[in-house]
Amino acid sequence: MEPKKEKHEKPKYDYKADEKLLYDTVIVGTGVVGWATAMYGGRLGLKTLIIGDIFGGTIILTHLVENYPGFVRLTGQELSDKLEEHARDYDIDILSDRVERVEKSKRGHEECFLAHTLDGKKFFTRTVIFATGTKFKKLGVPGEKEFENKGVHYCALCDGPLYKGKERVGVVGGSDSAAKEALLLTEYAKKVYLIYRGEKIRPEPINEKRVEAKIKEGKIEILYKTNVTEIKGDKLMTSVILDRPYKGNKEFKMDAIFIDIGHIPLSELAIQVGVKVNEKKEITVDRKGRTNVPGIFAAGDVVDTEFKQAITGVGEGVAAVYQAYKYVKEKEHQSA
Ligand SMILES: Cc1cc2nc3c(=O)[nH]c(=O)nc-3n(C[C@H](O)[C@H](O)[C@H](O)COP(=O)(O)OP(=O)(O)OC[C@H]3O[C@@H](n4cnc5c(N)ncnc54)[C@H](O)[C@@H]3O)c2cc1C
Repeated sequence: MEPKKEKHEKPKYDYKADEKLLYDTVIVGTGVVGWATAMYGGRLGLKTLIIGDIFGGTIILTHLVENYPGFVRLTGQELSDKLEEHARDYDIDILSDRVERVEKSKRGHEECFLAHTLDGKKFFTRTVIFATGTKFKKLGVPGEKEFENKGVHYCALCDGPLYKGKERVGVVGGSDSAAKEALLLTEYAKKVYLIYRGEKIRPEPINEKRVEAKIKEGKIEILYKTNVTEIKGDKLMTSVILDRPYKGNKEFKMDAIFIDIGHIPLSELAIQVGVKVNEKKEITVDRKGRTNVPGIFAAGDVVDTEFKQAITGVGEGVAAVYQAYKYVKEKEHQSA
């Protein structure tokens, strides 16, 4: 007898996606926002397809989420798994793939969109919701590319353990996530140097207190008004060059440097189909998640909101899919 499958057992790959269908909505992106949006799409009875290349997105890079209501404390991976599991509880289609292009199209007389994937699949859909998030901003200094994964990293959770017991590790940045990266790295390296170009780091107050405590313990030191201008090494990185001398020297020996200086919105697909973006290339949406192109919606880190968090993005995604639902119903009403 076959073992009974758990309701939420996760297949390794999903190809439950039908090229013959006209979907009500295609959600691009499988971060927390994509999953929450897909869950609500299923709940609203929309024929929903979610396509993503990295299941979980950015949040899985953090070891500690303490600000998602309902969960006092959990890892980013756990939060993403919970949202994915919730989405899978509804009748939605899921595809592990990358969307390469979205274009305006027609199916019979009906105007719609066509989403093309890297694997050469094509899906017709009445609406598209971009939840494509962001990618890491690079420092753009000599040595960064050469020593990537050889001392230069972008995720403390993923690569921090490599530096257990090492003398000095740096973090470039001054945001809340940079502070969290530095705090996590104190669990591995003997000392963490937070290198920030500004005058005052700006983490959430609770994380600021944690950083202050680590400064008192001698585990963190902050170098203000300082930029890294070069990363040097041989086979592995060995030092960074600073634009402001530290203890009289511009060259600072370091075992690794973690870069957390912000993110670039992944809005190119939206731009190609005529969606407006702001000067930071964030998708411009109204309070309901609507873009300037009827039938196209967006939510999460890729849009022009100020406060980018899992919970805000999830709320935006739910608001956007509700608008997609209203858009689909309106179209059905018109063609009846
Ligand atoms: C170190 C760190 C710590 C953080 N800590 C917290 C925290 O404690 N609490 C909190 O609320 N927030 C935190 N954040 C912010 C949080 O991670 C983001 O706000 C949130 O993950 C955004 O989700 P998203 O779904 O909009 O985007 P993302 O998580 O970036 O997901 C987008 C997804 O879309 C996929 N994608 C993009 N383009 C395509 C395409 N063309 N085809 C298919 N798939 C595509 C991407 O691969 C990705 O999987 C932290 C961020 C960082 C970097």
